[in-house]
Amino acid sequence: MEPILEINNVTKLFAGNKKNKGILALDTINLTIARNEFITILGPSGCGKSTLLRIVGGLEEQTTGSVYLDKSKIEGPSSNRGMVFQAYSLFPWLTVEENIQFGPKNKGMDARNRKELSDKYIELVGLKGFERHYPKQLSGGMQQRVAIARALANDPEILLLDEPFGALDNQTRVIMQELLLEIWEKSKKTILFITHDVEESIFLASRVLVMTSRPGKIKADIPIEIEHPRTYHVKMDHRFLQYKEHLTELIRDESLKAIKLEN
Ligand code: ADP
Ligand code: MG
Repeated sequence: MEPILEINNVTKLFAGNKKNKGILALDTINLTIARNEFITILGPSGCGKSTLLRIVGGLEEQTTGSVYLDKSKIEGPSSNRGMVFQAYSLFPWLTVEENIQFGPKNKGMDARNRKELSDKYIELVGLKGFERHYPKQLSGGMQQRVAIARALANDPEILLLDEPFGALDNQTRVIMQELLLEIWEKSKKTILFITHDVEESIFLASRVLVMTSRPGKIKADIPIEIEHPRTYHVKMDHRFLQYKEHLTELIRDESLKAIKLEN
């Protein structure tokens, strides 16, 4: 296994002030991810999932520890990490294809190659015919397809997704999960996907990492031994249900702790 991402002893302390005391969000995270893995990180709300992903994305700085992508130290954002968030983060004044071409254009790719590239990813996410639409003319699920295509168009080493389907209705969500798996199988990208949904974490992952309630630590590391390609039928499989029971127990304990922490 060739490691692509290495997270070594990462902690994050949000400093306090007169009104608020400091918050230890992450406590000694150690994690190695191999190329082509699909990792889901499952954890209760407030456990530090987004903080961890933002650190890998270079949007947030860890307090101690280090993160390496392909042996080079992460010190800020870069197009070698493609990010997709829960809230639709498309540029509202750009069309679907302009959104997807944004990164390549900034890098100086010429118009013809850009068009070819955006057509390829528009096809991949099933949005043919919507090239000239604006984000507000699209449903939530379609907007997230554009966000995924935009991230892929930069040809990142790793895709970082922070609860990207969290705002979608359940049917749309399942379809998006299948689509993302298809994209993963075709593109063989490494994916780090955050969720608080147990089913989603199992369905997508080759490995589920469970986080504790705050301060976030890695509590369990569970390989999902269900073959690909996977469709929603897998969710009725007895192995899937066994994973679901086990992970539900693990996450339930942490959610109970998290609720106590809030009170
Ligand atoms: P999750 O994504 O798992 O819900 P977050 O990573 O967003 O959790 O947050 C982890 C903890 O860190 C929470 O208690 C949150 O309030 C706190 N936190 C996140 N960002 C900041 C910040 N910029 N300043 C202070 N505290 C923060
Ligand atoms: Mg979050």
